[in-house]
Amino acid sequence: MMKNLLITNVTIVPMTAEESFIQNGYIFIESDVIKDVGHTPHPPHLKEQAKIIDGEGMVAIPGLINGHTHTPMSILRGYADDFPLMDWLKKMWAVEDRMTEEDIYWSSMLSMVEMIKSGTTTFCDMYYGMDRIAIGVEKSGMRALLSQGIIEGDSGGEELLTETVEFVRNWDKSANQRIHALLSPHAPYTCSPSLIEKMVEQAHILDCSIHTHLAETREEINIISERHGDTPIALMEKIGLFTRHVVAAHGVYLTDEEIDILKRRQVGLIHNPKSNMKLASGVAPIAQMLDKGVTIGIGTDGAASNNTLDMFEEMRFASLMQKVSLEDPMALPAYETLKMGTSRGAAALNIVDQVGTIEAGKKADITLIDFRKAHLSPVNDVVSHLIYSAKASDVAYTIVDGSVLMNNGKLTTIDEEEVTWHIEKIKNNLL
Ligand SMILES: [Zn+2]
Repeated sequence: MMKNLLITNVTIVPMTAEESFIQNGYIFIESDVIKDVGHTPHPPHLKEQAKIIDGEGMVAIPGLINGHTHTPMSILRGYADDFPLMDWLKKMWAVEDRMTEEDIYWSSMLSMVEMIKSGTTTFCDMYYGMDRIAIGVEKSGMRALLSQGIIEGDSGGEELLTETVEFVRNWDKSANQRIHALLSPHAPYTCSPSLIEKMVEQAHILDCSIHTHLAETREEINIISERHGDTPIALMEKIGLFTRHVVAAHGVYLTDEEIDILKRRQVGLIHNPKSNMKLASGVAPIAQMLDKGVTIGIGTDGAASNNTLDMFEEMRFASLMQKVSLEDPMALPAYETLKMGTSRGAAALNIVDQVGTIEAGKKADITLIDFRKAHLSPVNDVVSHLIYSAKASDVAYTIVDGSVLMNNGKLTTIDEEEVTWHIEKIKNNLL
């Protein structure tokens, strides 16, 4: 069956180099891979080989990459706002204890609906009940890095670790390589150093990355200092966490030495500006870390602390937050920010060989934004508009692995009404 796509008459922001725009171009996709990118006119024979998407008035960017989230938490959107992190976490955990696998499935599908509609093609998820989420990812067609988050309770984490190792064995590189499975100690304040050491050992055996929360709040810094006489990142360095590739969410409170560790160890740091603002966690030193060469992506965190999964908003907040906190309007400019949502985000998740740019050889993960809108007019600067003006609702097409998951505003893999029907029922039972 022919699954080729030809996107014509489109403005392309490939994210390969700052100046390399194509004003009026085409993208040819063969099966799941980008085969050719160029200026109009396209070679005439391509037309016979592909389904055509007319990109007139639209801008193509690499699919957005949500570097850190907890998809089932969408069921808790607006459930407990305006609390400090540790109190908020207790409220979340009380409900999460009662969630069934079905609840987790439909809540994560709700997140996938929102992400596809807002142009996100890849997400990095940490939760429990991951088998059900992986089934959802298979169905939705999205690309995902999935990890079973381990919070070490009184029972110890050994049993959970056995389960999560099983998860990685079952799911890593499945769904045409769209699914990557990771190991995930939730945070240094919810897992003991000895458990984290065991997880690192397993990650070496499984050859997988590790996803965790690090240095999120001042309170975390105090807890780790009291328990271990160290800062979170120095402690993780000592116990060998960074001997694997690590995706670390937050990084709000960091010393210069810790930033050096993140750089030296090539940690993928994920910035979650809206969550950090809403939970009043603090301002991550993003501009300073970028200067030092740390690899940084952007994530929404869960919808209970955001309260959307909209990467356009997230990128905008990232840029504005650096500017106001540093009193420097030149801090985190538009192109740098878009990189964090695309190519650099892919590098942070260690999947840059697959996605993150629009160029021949990469997997075909592409988002088309309709610029024929008053709030995007006049088009003085495409990248500026993408960061400072565009909305999730401007996304017209979301393509992952060469499959069109949203076709001119219509979802093709998920029945949105079915999802919202289940969500209403779950909400009534659970909350
Ligand atoms: Zn998180």
